[in-house]
Amino acid sequence: MTLSTNAAERESLRHPKPGRPPHDVLIVGAGIVGAACAAECARAGLAVTVLDRGPVGGGTTGAGMGHLVVLDDSPAQFALTTFSRRLWLELAPTLPPAVAFSRCGTLWVAANAEEFEEVRRKSAAYRQQG
Ligand SMILES: Cc1cc2nc3c(=O)[nH]c(=O)nc-3n(C[C@H](O)[C@H](O)[C@H](O)COP(=O)(O)OP(=O)(O)OC[C@H]3O[C@@H](n4cnc5c(N)ncnc54)[C@H](O)[C@@H]3O)c2cc1C
Repeated sequence: MTLSTNAAERESLRHPKPGRPPHDVLIVGAGIVGAACAAECARAGLAVTVLDRGPVGGGTTGAGMGHLVVLDDSPAQFALTTFSRRLWLELAPTLPPAVAFSRCGTLWVAANAEEFEEVRRKSAAYRQQG
C-alpha cells in the first residue's frame, strides 16, 4: 500500500512514470474511513494508494474521542453500530501494541428522573439484545 500526503508524490501519481507499479485502487482521504477501505482492499490483494492533502488522520479522525459506542436512536442505527462494534472487537487483537484499546464500557449519567427512566429503558433494551 502506498500512502502519499506529499504534493510532489501526488503529482507523480497523476502522471505515473513508466515502470511505476500501477494501483488498482486510489483512495482520497487518509482518515479512518479511507484507512479502513484501504485495509480491506489491501487484504483482498489489491494494490492501493491513499492520497491526502494533509497528515494521516489529520481531519476529523484526529479530533475523535476514540469512543466505540452502540447507539440506539433507531433499530437500524442499533443494528449498524452493534455490527460495527463487533468488527472492532475482532480487529482489536490484530492491532499493534502501540494502538490503545480498552473495553471500559459506557457510563450513561441521568441528570433527572426523566433521564433515569431513559437509562432504565436503554439498560433493559441492551440486555434484551444481548
Ligand atoms: C470532536 C469529535 C469527537 C468525535 N468522537 C468520536 C468518537 O468518540 N467515536 C466515533 O466513532 N466517532 C467520533 N467522531 C466522529 C468521527 O471522528 C468521524 O466520523 C470520522 O473521523 C470521520 O472519518 P473520515 O475518514 O470520514 O473523515 P476524516 O477523518 O475527516 O478524513 C477525511 C480525509 O480526507 C482528506 N481530504 C478531504 N478532501 C480531500 C481532497 N480533496 N484531497 C485530498 N485529501 C482530502 C482530509 O484531509 C482528511 O484527512 C468525533 C468527531 C468529532 C468532531
